[in-house]
Amino acid sequence: MIEKKGSVIYTLDSSTGRLFLVSTPIGNLDDITLRAIKVLKEVDFILAEDTRSAIRLLRHLDISKKVTSYFSYNEEKRIPGILDQLRTGKKVALISEAGTPLISDPGHKLVVAAIQENIRVIPIPGPSAILAALVASGLPTNRFLFEGFLPRKKGRQKVLQQLSTEKGTIILYESAVRIQKTIEDIVKILGNRYIVLARELTKKFEEFIRGFAQDILKELDKRTLKGEIVILIAGSDFQPGMFIKNGQ
Ligand code: SAM
Repeated sequence: MIEKKGSVIYTLDSSTGRLFLVSTPIGNLDDITLRAIKVLKEVDFILAEDTRSAIRLLRHLDISKKVTSYFSYNEEKRIPGILDQLRTGKKVALISEAGTPLISDPGHKLVVAAIQENIRVIPIPGPSAILAALVASGLPTNRFLFEGFLPRKKGRQKVLQQLSTEKGTIILYESAVRIQKTIEDIVKILGNRYIVLARELTKKFEEFIRGFAQDILKELDKRTLKGEIVILIAGSDFQPGMFIKNGQ
């Protein structure tokens, strides 16, 4: 039941169906919470962006559970059936290939649809590359802006221009193959900002590369970066004193 008071909507939770948004590891399989394991054991079925990696994780956790695919291309088609199940009281978990669902991953349409149906949506917090990268970057953590992946072509320049006035730390997701081009574009539009590349977080070859964008580009001429990368860009107010003192 939904009560409306002016423009504020209060949800009186009446259905027993539950949609759990479960965060899973971003590399190291030990990075999963006790609550996440409990929920994955208890739900009726799991929606997974990538069924193969989900089954691998469940096997590691010794959980045997029905897994069905839910990814960006089948999202809209899948929603009515999932809502039917939730309406009958089923408990459903959504997981993405890695980290927190909906963070540059599918799920937002399903969450909105569930809220509209007055179905309770429950977050099960855990790993996400954004915060892991930010806290170890050394860049200010009091204010930050997460932009996800930059558009590949159309709108790319405009987004970078909008970011140029941001005072807080800017966080981008990027794949290793496009890292050089993206840093070149950052230099063109935001200037020679202080940048941190957080690579392969929680994995064997975890690495933080810190420096001014142009120095990082020189480094990338010498070596090819592999794996998954978060780019953190110092905001427009950033004072790089502490890094320079360290000779970085
Ligand atoms: N939902 C995920 C999360 O909560 O972080 C993000 C999924 S998004 C499709 C994948 C991107 O996240 C990668 O291209 C990379 O930028 C970042 N990422 C994910 N895992 C990472 C890791 N272990 N190390 C560095 N970056 C990672």
